[in-house]
Amino acid sequence: MTDRYAVIGNPIEQSKSPFIHTEFARACGQTIEYGRILGPTGGFAASVDAFRAAGGKGMNVTAPFKLDACAYCTDLSVDARLAGAVNAMKFEGDRVWGENFDGVGLVRDLQVNLASPLKHKRVLVLGAGGATRGAWLPLLRCLPAELVVANRSVDKALDLVEIARQHLPDLVQQCQVRATGYPELADQGYDVVLHATSAGLSGEGPPVPPAVFSPGALAYDLTYGKGLTPFLRLAQAAGVVRLADGVGMLAEQAAEAFAWWRGVRPDTASVIRQLTVPLQ
Ligand code: NDP
Repeated sequence: MTDRYAVIGNPIEQSKSPFIHTEFARACGQTIEYGRILGPTGGFAASVDAFRAAGGKGMNVTAPFKLDACAYCTDLSVDARLAGAVNAMKFEGDRVWGENFDGVGLVRDLQVNLASPLKHKRVLVLGAGGATRGAWLPLLRCLPAELVVANRSVDKALDLVEIARQHLPDLVQQCQVRATGYPELADQGYDVVLHATSAGLSGEGPPVPPAVFSPGALAYDLTYGKGLTPFLRLAQAAGVVRLADGVGMLAEQAAEAFAWWRGVRPDTASVIRQLTVPLQ
């Protein structure tokens, strides 16, 4: 029987995962089936149970179920546990392994695809939701000179600093890790500015002053497929020429999941090329 995988979310029609994994399988000469499942509100566990009972081997998880997936898994990776969110599951008998590949996907896109090493750089993350929680420790492991998180609700940003202190104390000694609100951002520039709020979904830009972009900065919006988002437009107006969206992050986290399930890591270039919406 062909090995079966799926992505679960609500809504789910927009998900690129079936396309990406089908492309990866073709490129790696593997035969898999990859579908999409619309999880009913409150019905995550029942949907996953049914998929496993039908022989499913693994799943990707998207909004709003990443926290439900965390509770569902029997075994969590360190990144998934600290993020409190799972974006990939692997089923083996009674065991359900949970991973969160958003962070490694983002870091790989920045450092490899965009050739922007983070070591000794000043990095600012806007937003402290699920995506930032998944990316936080992977970003710190790259040893930036500074890692600053700004959030509307500052307490969530402070939680992230505490998580870093607890879990990577040695790195916190070597890197300035700070939390802040938006109004306090005025005076300092950063080499890499990552936009990880959902404000753009409603067409708004985050309230950041143009001074946060150092000369030569990279402005990166985790949102993808929307062209020039309000955040990227704001960066461009501030003179930033290095602009990127999250399509590479999406492809890289998918490649990590594929490698975890299938034992072979696909090249992402073709998928990124096909899914890229020009930033204009
Ligand atoms: P969450 O809902 O978990 O977090 C939302 C964040 O946005 C919070 O920090 C929230 O602040 C902030 N926010 C929402 N509205 C506003 C506003 N009007 N002004 C300022 N801040 C606001 O979302 P995620 O972390 O899951 O996702 C964030 C983004 O990342 C989304 O655009 C998503 O599409 C993208 N993403 C991309 C991925 C990829 O592979 N490329 C993977 C995962 C996510 P507060 O805490 O104060 O409410």
